Amino acid sequence: MKAMARILLCNDDGIDSEGLKALYAALAPLGELIVVAPDREQSAAGHSLSLHRPLRINELEHNWFSVDGTPTDCVNLALNGLFKSERPDMLVSGINRGGNLGDDITYSGTVAAAMEATLLGLPAVAISLAHADGETLDFELAKKVARAAAREVLSRGLEPGVLLNINVPNIPPQKCRGEKVTRQGKRVYEEAVVEKIDPRGREYYWIGGGSLLWKDEPDTDFEAVSNHQVSITPLRLDLTDYDAMKGLESWRFH
Ligand code: MN
Repeated sequence: MKAMARILLCNDDGIDSEGLKALYAALAPLGELIVVAPDREQSAAGHSLSLHRPLRINELEHNWFSVDGTPTDCVNLALNGLFKSERPDMLVSGINRGGNLGDDITYSGTVAAAMEATLLGLPAVAISLAHADGETLDFELAKKVARAAAREVLSRGLEPGVLLNINVPNIPPQKCRGEKVTRQGKRVYEEAVVEKIDPRGREYYWIGGGSLLWKDEPDTDFEAVSNHQVSITPLRLDLTDYDAMKGLESWRFH
């Protein structure tokens, strides 16, 4: 690991979020930090890129930049614009308020920021604090994990095209039962859409109203976090299903 690393920070909860401040404090001992984050909450923005409007960057203080766009915009602008000629060594995205587990990673702005960095050739880690509704957030364990993970990535590097999705249980560090390398779990969607009537008598719908359930399968991110372990899932951006390729060879598509 270089004596002074340069680390890019992003998140999807917005530049003022508690998790971003916690991440900054956690990583400050490792070197120079550059924050490029959305100017407002962008959770569940997924991997969306703003192509049809101008983007504005505001330097709020030295190395703290807010962008009126998505987490993907932030990372893209940082690596292809602001810091094009002096690239950071890695990206850490988080600490997200809420887990990014199982299928939910496909909606996640936190993970998308790490995906964008990975696509642009920069090693990346996404880190999220998995808490239950109404719980007070305790960032201490996630801060420790973020610092350790960044150290590992800076010294060992990551395979191109692979990022780390880390989920930390919302418990004090002394209650943590260690760490586990996991696979992506499976969410069970129950009452995923809530239907109601607005004050003017029109129907409206609200996505994501159901409770958080998951398939109880071994070695998943869900299982680790519910067992009070830190979950580390390596994600590969090549989404090709190599096993399915053979089976499709006998199909006819034209
Ligand atoms: Mn978020």
